[in-house]
Amino acid sequence: MMGRRPVALVTGANRGLGLETCRQLSSLGCRVAMSGRDLSRVESARRELGAAEADVIAVGMDVRDVRSIVEARERIAERLGPVDILVNNAAVLLHEDADVLSIPAEGFRDTFDTNVFGAIEVCRALVPSMAERGHGRVVNVSSGAGQLSRMSTYAPAYSVSKAALNAFTRMLAATYGGRGVLVNAVDPGWVRTDMGGPGAPRSLEQGADTIVWLALLPKDGPTGGFFRDRRPIEW
Ligand code: NAP
Repeated sequence: MMGRRPVALVTGANRGLGLETCRQLSSLGCRVAMSGRDLSRVESARRELGAAEADVIAVGMDVRDVRSIVEARERIAERLGPVDILVNNAAVLLHEDADVLSIPAEGFRDTFDTNVFGAIEVCRALVPSMAERGHGRVVNVSSGAGQLSRMSTYAPAYSVSKAALNAFTRMLAATYGGRGVLVNAVDPGWVRTDMGGPGAPRSLEQGADTIVWLALLPKDGPTGGFFRDRRPIEW
């Protein structure tokens, strides 16, 4: 398909599903840029994976900071080449138990800054070049909490942000349709991470499975979809 090993960038890769996604992509032959807002934590996560430094690198990137996104893109280009696969994984879950109108405006803004505007800015930095090269995969890590068809009262700022991320997924997929860039959203299910908590039913391996599957879609794969367990789900 491509003349070289694909290069993947994962945001929020220092722990949880981001780290597990890097582990799986690396073991499936990708070269991986692990990114996160605290470089020393990303570096220790990279060491935890035990992959060769030529194949898996750590870069600093706070998705709320456009300059850090552009700097990371340049560093990745120098060390691994242009990014073929982008996994927008970084997210925050704030005011989980509050009701919708008791969350202060900053609670919504802080959530959207990371979960929505962060993903948009990372796409702005990377997707046009994927389209120029005629090949790219974007995986937006969303949540069942963002399904409009099931929207209720759980974690209002987070849920509304994931619904917005889903809308952005549709928009980006339609914009780049036919140019080799496949854009999809995924619900990993409820997974044992710092965010999901120790009582969640799914392992990291199970949670990352559909993320990785979407990252490695063949060129006739789906775009503009929302998936759980490798199957389409309702928006
Ligand atoms: P997690 O353990 O809390 O990890 C979140 C990651 O995002 C951390 O690496 C964190 O970095 C990073 N992050 C937060 N703000 C950032 C920023 N401004 N810039 C860069 N990185 C940032 O969560 P997780 O469970 O692995 O979640 C990963 C994804 O899956 C998220 O999109 C989440 O919404 C989604 N999801 C999770 C579950 C679940 O049950 N776990 C269910 C549905 C969806 P720091 O270490 O620096 O904070």
